[in-house]
Amino acid sequence: MKKISIIIPAYNEEESLPFLFERLNKLMEQVNNYEFEILFVNDGSKDKTVELIKKQREIDNRISYVDFARNFGKETAMIAGLDYATGDAAIFMDADLQDPPELIPELIKYWEEGYDDVYAKRKSRKGETFLKKFTSKMYYKVLQKLAGMEIQRDTGDFRLLDRRCINALRKLRESQRCTKSMFSWIGYKKKEVLYDRDPRVAGKTKWNYLKLVDLAIDGITSFTTSPLRLATYIGVPTFFLLFIYTIYVIIKCIVLKVAVQAFQAIILLILFFSGIQIILFGIIGEYLGRIFVETKHRPLYLVNEYNGVRETNEI
Ligand code: UDP
Ligand code: MG
Repeated sequence: MKKISIIIPAYNEEESLPFLFERLNKLMEQVNNYEFEILFVNDGSKDKTVELIKKQREIDNRISYVDFARNFGKETAMIAGLDYATGDAAIFMDADLQDPPELIPELIKYWEEGYDDVYAKRKSRKGETFLKKFTSKMYYKVLQKLAGMEIQRDTGDFRLLDRRCINALRKLRESQRCTKSMFSWIGYKKKEVLYDRDPRVAGKTKWNYLKLVDLAIDGITSFTTSPLRLATYIGVPTFFLLFIYTIYVIIKCIVLKVAVQAFQAIILLILFFSGIQIILFGIIGEYLGRIFVETKHRPLYLVNEYNGVRETNEI
């Protein structure tokens, strides 16, 4: 019997978990020709999330959990899930039931047809503000342009991955992760499944706009260095303009015998170009920051315990 690991990152999800267990149980009753592993990654929750998971594990041994030493963020929780998953395929799912488990049989169906990466694409996004929908749409557009690679729009992390995709993703160990672009990067045979994204069943979203902006910048800088090229695109024409303008001013001074006077113009020019420089330094700083973080070669996450076994960090 083939085994499917359902990976669920959970951060302060005590309110959603009872609903989640119920829906998953229903699913596993229906789909009984597969072995299931429900792998929770407790991302340093401050509430009773891990206690609830442990309690459920006592009555259902299909439940496993990785308990992080602190909150490392969802992207990191996902790679930990892939590291610990034992299945022939893995499915990423949110703990808040925004990704309906009822879609899983369809994902499995396409996997059996030979697809490696079956991803669920949102038809609608109930319970999300207009602003969130709009910014998300714009972000995908920009990312796609910059990356020069097809990136699935309106697609979250809800997807099924074949073992070879799991192994491929496990090789990508950068610490500032943008899993969404990694799914595109690995390639393999992809299949789209449409679904309606539900509102959160309970609890509050952990995202705020600042976090989303962070994620967006990480997404772009982790994927492409083309913003760095902006320096060239702006810098070279600027140099030519300056060169021509300087010649023009010198010739004008000699021929018409007038003094260069326009100090206002100079001030404006200085402001303009220092502005450009600051922006470009900012972009370079982004990449420098990434290099700094990556060169530390720290482990991506630290585990407190796995299925009740204490992590000792012995080598
Ligand atoms: N999550 C996590 N670590 C975090 C934040 C969120 O593991 O630091 C989990 C969270 O428990 C949920 C999933 O990531 O299972 C999606 O989070 P959320 O529903 O808050 O995001 P949204 O659906 O609003 O984008
Ligand atoms: Mg959610």
